[in-house]
Amino acid sequence: MTVRLDDVGKTYDGGAGPVTALDGVTATFDEGTFTAVMGPSGSGKSTLLHCAAGLEPPTSGAVTIAGTRLGELDETALTRLRRDRVGFVFQDFNLVSSLTAAQNVALPLRLAGRRADSERVRAALAEVGLADRIGHRPRELSGGQQQRVAIARALFTRPAVLFADEPTGALDNRTSHQVLTLLRELVDRHGRTVVMVTHDPVSAAVADRVVLMVDGRITDELTGVDAAGV
Ligand code: ADP
Ligand code: ADP
Repeated sequence: MTVRLDDVGKTYDGGAGPVTALDGVTATFDEGTFTAVMGPSGSGKSTLLHCAAGLEPPTSGAVTIAGTRLGELDETALTRLRRDRVGFVFQDFNLVSSLTAAQNVALPLRLAGRRADSERVRAALAEVGLADRIGHRPRELSGGQQQRVAIARALFTRPAVLFADEPTGALDNRTSHQVLTLLRELVDRHGRTVVMVTHDPVSAAVADRVVLMVDGRITDELTGVDAAGV
């Protein structure tokens, strides 16, 4: 599933006047590719991810996911697309502390009023290497394990595209490596599209392509050997 942004702009009403977070971004995230988005703090990386994932509407321009322009969907269709086709992973995991790993994975489906098959939940956690942590609550898991639960949750509906906002930002080197390996496998083995914001060049080196943002614009793109050397 390919995600396309056409001349996307996003302006926020800041206290001291409007803030331009995205200033005409055009980009394509091809099916089966891994893109890292880098750039200084405040350059618009998170906003780019939120707009591309349909979490926030752009002020101008268009976002297209698998041939569907998000701006043409009503709220119900947009909610369904976000739930079924798009996964999102946050830096701080966003797990519910009172729920077990299995309950966290099943939560989005439960909230949508659907049953989550417990064998499938088990399989989802096994896929991220946590078969023996199904009944653990977040505080009983390491940071890397919590992030892997969050990834299992994001992948539970088998979305074709996964957006990750600084997924290794709260992790040490070793656990970062586990999470990055998992994301890489999603692309290589399952042909998913991954778009990851990171400020860490080592993390970015697992991507096929690095997009650089400055002041709400994409200013450069590196692929292959160049990207590995960021
Ligand atoms: P990055 O992820 O690169 O740090 P962001 O996308 O978070 O950048 O932010 C880009 C710009 O938009 C910044 O100037 C930020 O302060 C502003 N911004 C982001 N979200 C909001 C918001 N909800 N309200 C007002 N301004 C915002
Ligand atoms: P990692 O090897 O990912 O850095 P840790 O060293 O933090 O993980 O934890 C080692 C193991 O102990 C992990 O498998 C984790 O599930 C378990 N563990 C960590 N904290 C707790 C806890 N408070 N209660 C139960 N198990 C825990």
